[in-house]
Amino acid sequence: MYAARALRDVDVQVTLLDRRNHHVFQPLLYQVASAALSPGDIASPIRWILRRQKNVEVLLADVQRVDPARKVVILADGEIAYDLLVLAAGATHAYFGHDDWQVMAPGLKTLEDALEIRRRVLLAYERAERENDPVRRAGLLTFVVIGGGPTGVELAGALAEISRQSLARDFRHFDPSSARIILIEAGPTILSTFPDTLREAARKDLQKLGVDVRTGKAVTGVANGRVDLGNESIAAATVLWAAGVAASPVGVTLGVPTDRVGRVIVQPDLTIPGHPDVFVIGDLASFTGANGKPLPGVAQVAIQMGRHAAENIRRAVDHQPYRPFVYKDLGNMATIGRASAIADFGWLRLKGWIGWLAWLFVHILNLIGFRNRLVVLVQWAWAYFSYQRAIRLITGRDQRETAA
Ligand SMILES: Cc1cc2nc3c(=O)[nH]c(=O)nc-3n(C[C@H](O)[C@H](O)[C@H](O)COP(=O)(O)OP(=O)(O)OC[C@H]3O[C@@H](n4cnc5c(N)ncnc54)[C@H](O)[C@@H]3O)c2cc1C
Repeated sequence: MYAARALRDVDVQVTLLDRRNHHVFQPLLYQVASAALSPGDIASPIRWILRRQKNVEVLLADVQRVDPARKVVILADGEIAYDLLVLAAGATHAYFGHDDWQVMAPGLKTLEDALEIRRRVLLAYERAERENDPVRRAGLLTFVVIGGGPTGVELAGALAEISRQSLARDFRHFDPSSARIILIEAGPTILSTFPDTLREAARKDLQKLGVDVRTGKAVTGVANGRVDLGNESIAAATVLWAAGVAASPVGVTLGVPTDRVGRVIVQPDLTIPGHPDVFVIGDLASFTGANGKPLPGVAQVAIQMGRHAAENIRRAVDHQPYRPFVYKDLGNMATIGRASAIADFGWLRLKGWIGWLAWLFVHILNLIGFRNRLVVLVQWAWAYFSYQRAIRLITGRDQRETAA
């Protein structure tokens, strides 16, 4: 989308293909999952976003593969030819060879995922209200989040807030604040991409919220109502996955080298070897940064790559050589709860309330659409001062469907 926008004044005809009709601001998906925001607050129709740009057409299309030799994109229902291609199909969750865990432990990538997670969480509380067996009730009130990166930390913090604040007075047969929220990370630390001081601050804030943070614990099994950590087994009705990513399978169809998670290894100008007419960008691209490591799968990388690919396309139109991509690191952030976040800008490190204000500012700024910004700001203000979710905590299905 940023590449398409940056081509506004270039003499090209842009066709933007996506299998969804909307753009989602993924950094706030966990707020939809935790009922702090509605889907429409963080998503906008792609054709609405680009409505004023005359040289763009937007087509709903499911891309199956690319044939760089014939210069065509093969769709589920046809083909589209191109002169220059920008491939930005992103990434999805990976279950490290345990795809069967997906049903029990959904990941968070789309609006549907967020709504499914919200449904499971709220249903667990509803079922607990009617459960007389204390052991089964404890299982219903145990929420496990697997993966201690920013998404896992944000989800765990939000789950703790739901139990300790939003639902605190809503049930008669149990105390919602007795719910256990367990965050499991296989590595030695949560938020491994942040400096030590910020990680430690985040861990303390999570613990203050009542999250049981377990590091150095690899999940060995996920079954219905249970998570295994080697010899230990945790009974948990709700298990959420925030542990691994895999690149879109469209990448490998280019027939060029990919990395361990299927990301296409791109050249310094973001094209692929042997095909100067194909750019691969964002989460689907593996690009070695100045520190010799691949750039992370974050929005800033995708946005800057999108703009750079567009700039190189402009240069191709003007018969000028491509320029290499240089990433400008603008910082790294993660939020832990209602008024706590960490932010690492390199020259400045923030935590706690100040970190949260920085987080809030950056996220409002990057939301697309004035309406979304305003609505989200009002809902956050409401949630901040009232300790309540702005959204009604409804499950979305009736008792007959949920009993199944
Ligand atoms: C829960 C979550 C939280 C995140 N939080 C942050 C954060 O706080 N900060 C940050 O910087 N980054 C965050 N990220 C990462 C950030 O969202 C991504 O790095 C960024 O969206 C990558 O952009 P992209 O364009 O490469 O891919 P995407 O944004 O994933 O876009 C890919 C697009 O391609 C479409 N598509 C995929 N396959 C096909 C196909 N076969 N045919 C047609 N269309 C297809 C999809 O529908 C989608 O619209 C988060 C990601 C997630 C999932």
